[in-house]
Amino acid sequence: MAGNIDRAIDRLIALQDLLQLKRDITDHSYGEIGFETVDPTAVDEEIESLTAEIEPDIMRRFDTIRRKYDRPLVPMRRGVCYGCFVKFPTGRMAELLEQDVPILCESCGRMLYQIP
Ligand SMILES: [Zn+2]
Repeated sequence: MAGNIDRAIDRLIALQDLLQLKRDITDHSYGEIGFETVDPTAVDEEIESLTAEIEPDIMRRFDTIRRKYDRPLVPMRRGVCYGCFVKFPTGRMAELLEQDVPILCESCGRMLYQIP
């Protein structure tokens, strides 16, 4: 996997966390358990800053998948997608890992990052 894809994935993981945080702080019931200390404007600014540093093609893809899933990016381990638990054939995995684009699950369509 190319280094620039790894960097984009790292940013997307952080972005996904921030988007979740934003959902949590806009859900009023969370105020009762401590989320009132989070500044929504600061979260928005950070989301904007991260988004600007992600390649537009990858960002567009991420946004498209996000219309369908709250978590568009999920880990993949031993060829298994952690979004839908479908396993990729070994040969197909090797093919996908050589490409210079984020891997998409061929079953659920989520974006994948490989973990050991
Ligand atoms: Zn999947």
